[in-house]
Amino acid sequence: MAAGGRAAPSFGTDGTAYALVEGFGHTVTPLSPALVQLKSDPARVRGLRGIRMDAEVIVLRGERELFRTRGDVLFTDSGVSGDAVFRASSYAQRGDTLVLDLLPDVERSLLEEALAKGTGEDSLLCVVPNGLGRTLWRMAGGDRTRAAGLIKRFSLPVTGNEGFARAQVTRGGIPLAETDENLESKLRRGLFFAGEILNVDGECGGYNLQWAFTSAYLAAEGVRSC
Ligand SMILES: Cc1cc2nc3c(=O)[nH]c(=O)nc-3n(C[C@H](O)[C@H](O)[C@H](O)COP(=O)(O)OP(=O)(O)OC[C@H]3O[C@@H](n4cnc5c(N)ncnc54)[C@H](O)[C@@H]3O)c2cc1C
Repeated sequence: MAAGGRAAPSFGTDGTAYALVEGFGHTVTPLSPALVQLKSDPARVRGLRGIRMDAEVIVLRGERELFRTRGDVLFTDSGVSGDAVFRASSYAQRGDTLVLDLLPDVERSLLEEALAKGTGEDSLLCVVPNGLGRTLWRMAGGDRTRAAGLIKRFSLPVTGNEGFARAQVTRGGIPLAETDENLESKLRRGLFFAGEILNVDGECGGYNLQWAFTSAYLAAEGVRSC
């Protein structure tokens, strides 16, 4: 069985295969969308749609840091997307906070120094894209220290994600503990699994396709020696 997960049902992976798996007595661990856009308060991202940045992304649950990464962040109508956000989406859930450092290579003190020059807004537009600079300057009410704070710690409440329909991968599936080293079912001899239907998901970067190919190779080897 290599029927994929529940993500991106428009490609045929609508999750119907899990019922077949359960019919064989296997467990399916809780499923959730992964590598998916995160939703936030639309008012918080208003005016930022289409802006793409190299940013540091931190997932906070209350005060606790769950995950930190750096990469591409793209603002959308409903929240944020991009490779760094996709990676963070495997950890973030509704109620968490996403903290973005929009100038990760610049110390806050240096940024404040830069904003102290000219009108402040002019300096801001020299260091971040115009649309972002103008919106942040407005949000900061023209206050240089607050503007620097927004750039270094732009916080977004996570209100959810775009769901399986827009996700690239499914988190959860058949536990590996229910298969042997060739991914043969420990419950049904001759039944092999491969790919996303198993409880394995990886970050962006080709790891999910690699898992699909590698697990298929292992399963094929197992079938050959059956
Ligand atoms: C938009 C998008 C972009 C992606 N980009 C990347 C990337 O850049 N790098 C990366 O590593 N991964 C990426 N992925 C994830 C990667 O494509 C999947 O993890 C991988 O294809 C999973 O392989 P699979 O063979 O397990 O399942 P799938 O490729 O999903 O194939 C499963 C097949 O089973 C069929 N099927 C489903 N249910 C049944 C059923 N009940 N009966 C019969 N057939 C059924 C489906 O129609 C489908 O043809 C991306 C995914 C999406 C959606």
